[in-house]
Amino acid sequence: MSKQQQLDALKTEHATQCPHCAPRIQSNEARAVFGEGDPDAELMFVGEGPGADEDRLGRPFVGRAGQLLDKEIIAMGLKRDEVYIANIVKTRPPGNRVPTYEEAVVCKPYLERQIQIIQPKVIVALGATSAKYLLDDLSLAITKERGHWKTHSGVAVMPTFHPAYLLRQVNRQAHAQVWHDLKLVLEKLNRPIPSRDR
Ligand code: URA
Repeated sequence: MSKQQQLDALKTEHATQCPHCAPRIQSNEARAVFGEGDPDAELMFVGEGPGADEDRLGRPFVGRAGQLLDKEIIAMGLKRDEVYIANIVKTRPPGNRVPTYEEAVVCKPYLERQIQIIQPKVIVALGATSAKYLLDDLSLAITKERGHWKTHSGVAVMPTFHPAYLLRQVNRQAHAQVWHDLKLVLEKLNRPIPSRDR
């Protein structure tokens, strides 16, 4: 089976069997946002969970935060369809709240299997929730740990700020910090670092 076929099979399995998402999908409470991108991607971005726009379209990072993520990907000299984008939980938490650790624990095995199939060289964990849940470190402080390499299942993980957080920042410091982190990712991937005015 190709990687795409494995991902397609996993997508069906998730929608029908995830203890957290399947009942919500079947009752039309939420739509599955499985993830999308190149099954052979070297780089994977992991967010926290779908928001309202993602729930409506069934695709990750398509709202305002997604537009900023798209800009970050382009600034890295990449295209959105060259990377893979997924979330810790694959259905939108009610009221757009942060997913609970219990919700993450039951849905995350599907993300783990996406990672195993895709075998990226680097995962960028977008924001505190993604970094904490992905790395199983609930005490992780994103302001302290962003920009520092971690490892998960043998894959290098770079925690950085979530694009939605950047949208709320009036000064440019956090934007510059994210660009610093993304440059470390490019270095790790042996890719050229485009110059950028931020
Ligand atoms: N925020 C996330 O964490 N994930 C999305 O897919 C969209 C917004």
